[in-house]
Amino acid sequence: MKYGEADRILHVFTPELGRRSVIARGARKPRSKLGGRLEPPSHVELELHEGRGDIATVTGATTLAALPRLRERLDAIDAAMHACDDVDRLFGDGEAHPPIFHLLVNHLRGLDQDPAAATIGRQLAFRLKLLLGAGIAPELGACARCGAAGPLTAFSGADGGLLCSGCEHSGFRIDPALPDVMRAALGSSLAEAPLPAPFVARQFDRAVTDLALHHLGAKLRGLQIDG
Ligand SMILES: [Zn+2]
Repeated sequence: MKYGEADRILHVFTPELGRRSVIARGARKPRSKLGGRLEPPSHVELELHEGRGDIATVTGATTLAALPRLRERLDAIDAAMHACDDVDRLFGDGEAHPPIFHLLVNHLRGLDQDPAAATIGRQLAFRLKLLLGAGIAPELGACARCGAAGPLTAFSGADGGLLCSGCEHSGFRIDPALPDVMRAALGSSLAEAPLPAPFVARQFDRAVTDLALHHLGAKLRGLQIDG
């Protein structure tokens, strides 16, 4: 966020302190080295001065990963910014989540290594893993309401997972491919995330955003899914 004449307030996500708001003074001056290094998304090491207020001041920044290739592709930068936004919305100030930090860094570095890998499948898999890291483990193996093995024909964020045909009234109808796609997304690395058809991807995204809303009170932005 812009602040004052030339300053910037940043949300940073750290391994030991969770999310923090910090202020970078002068970061918006045209030749500010600090400003260049803090351009999101970036993986940086920060030196902070803790003042009396809630907001620490950035006194130095060292780039750990500049992510230059990622910045050259619109879909890759969009995927990266979405990922940062998700983390920002799901995790409050001061809650340490080292595994989430590493998941995010891994995702950003993966997008930089191969910007063409910014697929919707990879973004959905990241979101699902993020929810798991936040303590939401959706029921993907049986009906979340009655425990029936199947057929699983709907999904309910409020009930926390897939629903059988007898319980489907409390969720939204899904394509038969969705359960396998979601299980595969959780069970594989981000690089090997399955790539669902667009209409299945939209159901996947709805499932994830419903889970986040019902169980964490977090409103995630929907992904742009073409086709
Ligand atoms: Zn059921």
